[in-house]
Amino acid sequence: MNEFRHQPLYDEWVVIAPNRTRKPPIESEPPTQTEISDPFLSGNEGKTPPEIYAIRENQSIAASWKTRVFPNKFPLLALETPPVRSMNGVYSSIGGFGAHEMVIDQQKPNKHLCLFSAEEFRDLMLTFRERFSALYQDRRFASVTAFKNQGIKAGNTIAHSHSQIVALPFIAPNLAKQIETSREHYNRVGRCLLCDQIASEEEKKLRVLTRGRYFTAFAPFASRFEFEAWIAPNVHNSSFTLLTKDSLSDLGETLEWCAKRLGIALENPDMNLLLFTEPPKRDHYKADYFHHIDRFFHWHIELLPRSRASGGFELASGCRINPIAPETYASYLKDIII
Ligand SMILES: [Zn+2]
Repeated sequence: MNEFRHQPLYDEWVVIAPNRTRKPPIESEPPTQTEISDPFLSGNEGKTPPEIYAIRENQSIAASWKTRVFPNKFPLLALETPPVRSMNGVYSSIGGFGAHEMVIDQQKPNKHLCLFSAEEFRDLMLTFRERFSALYQDRRFASVTAFKNQGIKAGNTIAHSHSQIVALPFIAPNLAKQIETSREHYNRVGRCLLCDQIASEEEKKLRVLTRGRYFTAFAPFASRFEFEAWIAPNVHNSSFTLLTKDSLSDLGETLEWCAKRLGIALENPDMNLLLFTEPPKRDHYKADYFHHIDRFFHWHIELLPRSRASGGFELASGCRINPIAPETYASYLKDIII
């Protein structure tokens, strides 16, 4: 049974997941799966756990899906695990309660994230939005995160192109940190931190990659990874669940713009796509925790190419080393003609 364990020295929660070893670790690129062995191909819908959500070309044809969502067969967290907290001296742990969903985002088994079309990104974002809205209705969850691991350096272990959604009984530590830094900035200057970053990038033009009607993609000033790109709404918006039909296409086009150019610049790199958004408001948090969160928190997506593993200095110091300045690669990406 998986569980959350707390490391008091770092004040950090870790998921201890012994059943993950049932999935054999892959040492090279995932193999191309055949129609027989790949349960995620269209026509093999009966081989997956029961479907939770799907976008279909034709509702009456099961195999005509563009995206399909179902529970992960090897979940990091499970609804069946009671979220019981236990203390043992300085150590505390909580049962690994949560939801872990697979999103099959491609009929083609091995399509690289950098080759996704704007429409495919749009369908993936619509799927994320629908699942976030549904999971937010379940009051047992305090935060939801969505991500895609492309390639083994990004943690991928399954050959067929897919994304994942995880719902947690607490606010995920990375999200909680963003909430605190955004709150502190808002309390100090009365504005949203990411709005201020986007305005600064717009003014300087050095690191803006592309700006559409609804979204801006930019290389963050302190990018931690080579060719890191962030995508955020132009106009302040705290929650990804509020994404409108109009803006979905623009988001798909902005993601395609970035992914295509990263694919050309880095020859289809291993990469993570991460989504950060305002968590649902829950009563068990302090009364003022969510006060003005819709004003100071700004949802966004991060594309993080993973060209190398972290070294000792990075692990010991907590400072990432990025060998290329964001303004340099921003200019390089903008010069790529497609
Ligand atoms: Zn904002």
